[in-house]
Amino acid sequence: MRKLKVLFLLPVLGMIACSEDPISEIDNTTPNSITEDFNQNLTEKAYPKQLGATSQVYFAGQKLPVEEIKGSYVYQGDIILPKDMANVQPKKLVYQEGESLQKSTGRTSGLWKDNTVYFQVDSNLPNQQRVYDAVKHWESNTSLDFVERSGVSDYIYFTAGAGCSSYIGRVGGRQEITLADGCSTGNTIHEIGHAVGLWHEQSRVDRDRHVTILYDNIESGREHNFSTYEEMGYEGEEFTSNLDFNSIMMYSSYSFSKNGEPTIVKNDGGAYYVQRQELSSGDIQGIESMYPSGSGTTTSEPNYINGEYYTVSGLTVLRYNDSWYYGSRFGWRKVKLVDSNWYWV
Ligand SMILES: [Zn+2]
Repeated sequence: MRKLKVLFLLPVLGMIACSEDPISEIDNTTPNSITEDFNQNLTEKAYPKQLGATSQVYFAGQKLPVEEIKGSYVYQGDIILPKDMANVQPKKLVYQEGESLQKSTGRTSGLWKDNTVYFQVDSNLPNQQRVYDAVKHWESNTSLDFVERSGVSDYIYFTAGAGCSSYIGRVGGRQEITLADGCSTGNTIHEIGHAVGLWHEQSRVDRDRHVTILYDNIESGREHNFSTYEEMGYEGEEFTSNLDFNSIMMYSSYSFSKNGEPTIVKNDGGAYYVQRQELSSGDIQGIESMYPSGSGTTTSEPNYINGEYYTVSGLTVLRYNDSWYYGSRFGWRKVKLVDSNWYWV
């Protein structure tokens, strides 16, 4: 499983729409039931039946290819970018001291504080047991606590929707996880994975060592779902040494296939199968890196390594001599982070 430093530090992306689900809504005219099943159950999508116009938006200082569907920017199938944080024009990322601030694209860290995730279940959501079962699975296997919200302002809101979808990391305020009727407990575990900061496993930077993406078989307009985060301009980190095919965040071989042929194959020629039952040991290991057990308070200042790049509060910066530097068009300049906003030093 892979998680990105970016992710935690990143202010968040919006919602991901994983489409594992709406099985009942999918047309079953294709007799190839095996690939159909893979496609339907193992690729979460926010809007399974719609393909939106593809466009580019700026999010956290990076340009991302997205689909625009029903007024939402959908990235990688089931990740929804908060509209007020995604912009069609690049945003100012570093401010002069004292300059008045616009609403930044990246003001939150994306991590849940104190290993505590607050949530609320829409009283109209059908089959609420899947939410409670998924939450219990997370609590049993990780150091995260899930607390039903009373009064706190940042929380996950489980509600009905056209597909399965989630934001990535803590966005701030109420952030939805949508669950169509077809979204299972396993799909819900997957969506919670996004909400606490996990990307899809096949987005690992090193995934080409393990798999090959067959772009010719991908539905037109869905190709961006197969980008690595490096290709998106992000820095990241893998928390397992190899791609974890057993990760609950891994796409199936047939995700977004337009012709029943595989879209992802193993480089060694073998088949692989993905699951939507439980967090894998790799998933659990990754979460432990993000949310160490026993660290009652998750520090907002992780252990930054000199010489490495990080994306923090929307800006990709270089850590050097225990300070931050930003590569502007005028060259490297020192910057500092104050209350989640960057300033020139
Ligand atoms: Zn997903």
